[in-house]
Amino acid sequence: MSHEDKSIREIRIDPIVPCNSVLVATARGMRPRKQEDPAPRDTRKHVETCPFCRGNEDKTPPTITAYPDENNWNIRVVENLYPVLGEDNTQDNLTFGLQQTIEGYGRHEVIIDHPSHGIAIHEMDIDHLAMVFKSYQDRMSDLYNSDPRLKYVLAFKNFGPAAGASIPHTHSQIIAMPVVPENLYNEVHNSSKYYKKHHRCIFCSLIDEALTYEATIYDRESGEVRRKINVGQYVIEKNKYFVAIKPFASRYEWEIHILPLNHEADYMRAPENELQAFAEVLKKSMARLEQVIGGAQYNYFLHSIPHGSDYNDCSPSYHWHLEICPRTSIPSGFELGSGLFVNTISPEDAAEKLRSVDLSDIL
Ligand SMILES: [Zn+2]
Ligand SMILES: [Zn+2]
Ligand SMILES: [Zn+2]
Repeated sequence: MSHEDKSIREIRIDPIVPCNSVLVATARGMRPRKQEDPAPRDTRKHVETCPFCRGNEDKTPPTITAYPDENNWNIRVVENLYPVLGEDNTQDNLTFGLQQTIEGYGRHEVIIDHPSHGIAIHEMDIDHLAMVFKSYQDRMSDLYNSDPRLKYVLAFKNFGPAAGASIPHTHSQIIAMPVVPENLYNEVHNSSKYYKKHHRCIFCSLIDEALTYEATIYDRESGEVRRKINVGQYVIEKNKYFVAIKPFASRYEWEIHILPLNHEADYMRAPENELQAFAEVLKKSMARLEQVIGGAQYNYFLHSIPHGSDYNDCSPSYHWHLEICPRTSIPSGFELGSGLFVNTISPEDAAEKLRSVDLSDIL
C-alpha cells in the first residue's frame, strides 16, 4: 500500500515549539471541525459607502502616512477607529492577589493596502505588494522608536469574515503592544536553546532539511514503507531569497510559512530588493491557495525578533517569517480544551496539491 492511500493518525510535534503539537487524522470522513462555507469574495473595485475606498478619506481617522503621497495614495496608513490598545491609558500596572494587569497601552493602525476594494493578494502587482511590506517595515520602525514601552509591533492581515475581517476592503493592521506575544516568546526562547546546543539556527536547519532531505521510514514489524520524505516535498514556492514551506506539523490544513533563505532575525533589516523577491513568493503561494481552496479566508502575521536589549543575544538563533493560516474550519471544543489542533489533510498531500497548481492559468 502506498503512503498516499493510507490514512494517518498521529500527533506531530512542532520542531520549534514542541507544546504546539498537531493531531493529523486523515481517515475518510473524519471532520471533527465544522467546515466554513467559502464566502463569495467581494470583488468590486469601488464601493461608495466604504470608508477605505478612495474619495472617502474623511470617513477614517487622519492619514498617518501614505504611499506615494496623500493625494495620490496607493497605500494609506490611518489610526484604527476602534483600537484594541490605545495611547490614552492612564491606569498603572496592578497586582492584587493572583490578579495581575499590565496597562493596555499601545497603538493600533490600519494599513489600507490597495485602493481597489476587493482585490486579493494574488491579484496585486509584485511592486505594489513589495511596497505593502515596506510600509510594515516603516511603521514597525517608527513605532519601536516612538516609545520604549512598546515591546512588540505585530503586523498582520485578516482576510474574509471567517478570519475576523470586519471591513471587506483589503487592509492590514499593525498593533504595537506592551508585551511580547506568547507564541513569539516561545519561538525565540526555544530557538535560542536549540542554538546553544547545536550552534545553528533551527529555522535554517528546517529550510535545509526541506531542500535536501530524503528518507524512507519502514514499519519495524511488517517492513512496510511507513513514510517517504522526499527532497522538496514541503516546498510550495522558492526563489533566490525566499522559500514557502508547508509545515510538517501544520495546525491549519492549508497553512504556509514563508522564510528568507539567508539567515536574518529582524524583518526590518530585509532590504528592498529582497522584499521584491518576498512579494513574488507570497503572490505565487496565494495564487496556488486560491486555485486549490477558492476564496481563501485567512490570517497572516509576521514574526520577527522583538526589539530591546533582552533579545540582543537571539539574533543568531531567531529567523523572521510570515505565517499564513487559511481558515477553513472553526476550532472545536477538543481543540480548545486540549490545545491540540486537528488537521484532517496530511501536510504532505496539501503540499502536493498546492505544488501541482499550474500558475500559468491564473497569473
Ligand atoms: Zn472599499
Ligand atoms: Zn536562520
Ligand atoms: Zn512564528
